[in-house]
Amino acid sequence: MIIGIPKEIMHGERRVSAIPETVKNMVDSGAKVLFQKGAGVGSHHNDEEYKEAGAVIVADVEEIFAQAEVILKVKEPQFNKEKDKHELDMMHEGQYLISFLHPASPANHQVVRNMAEKGIIGLTLDGIPRISRAQSMDALSSMSTCAGYKGMIMGINDISKFVPFVTSAVGRLQPATVFVIGTGVAGMRALATAKGLGATVYSADIRPEANDNARSLGAIIVETGVPSEIAVSADGKHANQLPEKWLAVEHESFNDIISKADIVFCSALIHGKVAPVLITEEMVKMMQPGSCVVDISIDQGGNCAITTMGAIDVKHGVIIQGINNIPGMLATSSTIMFSKNMYNLLTYLTKDGKINLDLSDEIISSILVTKDGEILHEGTLEAMGLK
Ligand code: NAD
Repeated sequence: MIIGIPKEIMHGERRVSAIPETVKNMVDSGAKVLFQKGAGVGSHHNDEEYKEAGAVIVADVEEIFAQAEVILKVKEPQFNKEKDKHELDMMHEGQYLISFLHPASPANHQVVRNMAEKGIIGLTLDGIPRISRAQSMDALSSMSTCAGYKGMIMGINDISKFVPFVTSAVGRLQPATVFVIGTGVAGMRALATAKGLGATVYSADIRPEANDNARSLGAIIVETGVPSEIAVSADGKHANQLPEKWLAVEHESFNDIISKADIVFCSALIHGKVAPVLITEEMVKMMQPGSCVVDISIDQGGNCAITTMGAIDVKHGVIIQGINNIPGMLATSSTIMFSKNMYNLLTYLTKDGKINLDLSDEIISSILVTKDGEILHEGTLEAMGLK
């Protein structure tokens, strides 16, 4: 199998889809790896390390796209300004592409259509189901771990206060107060990061199980007032999208903590849906001057009503972080996690040196986006109005 690893071309993207260790594993299992010159620089691995791991270093990305049977990428295909060509236009029929494609997102519908038209077999890492046997391939959870940690560090960096309790010659300074909304994968990592630095941490989630997890890390739970039969799905595993009436109850329950928090960390989401608005503009006005909202759900529309996508603003005296691609700012760690998830998925898909797609397998059917000229991904077809 010939595997191609191009350099990521999205502005500011420092991750890459393989580290030298995973390249070595691929080569040891019989694959030929074509690695684009300099693709590891953003995550601090040089070409020599990849060469030692057994990769062939290729300067021209077009050669990689032309020769590889499988392309491994972090981000969906984009326009390559240097080549004056879209990455898809360098690919060919029957070629596999494994990447974060976010195919249901309207912004990517055209790319998905073009992939189908070109006969590319597209597999999306964001489709990996959150089931135990798929955990080692779950790149979305890995990236949420990165965003939870780094996002909290960004918030801490924004406020002009100590986080821990500090005793000094002039007296005691109280620890910072942090409020985490949505204690799933990202929220739990954010909570642990703030707690580890000595903050007083509050949290809220509409799933009782998530609150139990947060409590076990030392958070003080803010009760949302939403009954669990409204909040939790019938199988007990997921949060439901709340009707307006219950969202208003939840807003009300946050008023007290919002007015004393130094950092409000927003990581509430129902997968595949627009993020619920849990902090309104009126609530931002209640916050203390110099405090901060870190809204990591911004790619899904944001949990705060006045977050600007991709920007850091100051509104009503509050710093509002809407930075996306936070894992790209933690490129060394996120690349290690992503590359290992990618390698585990590739190994899972490979039988006798070839990719073998068994569509009766839940993991494979959840990640397959395009094949034989067709769009096959359920969520994408629904989002495109084709189902
Ligand atoms: P998750 O599903 O593990 O957690 C989401 C949590 O939100 C769940 O516990 C759920 O119960 C809770 N929730 C849902 N509705 C709620 C409500 N009304 N009130 C309170 N809690 C509610 O998701 P995750 O993997 O932790 O991701 C969280 C967010 O982080 C997502 O929006 C994801 O896209 C985002 N993210 C952002 C970046 C970035 O760079 N900005 C990177 C990775 C992840």
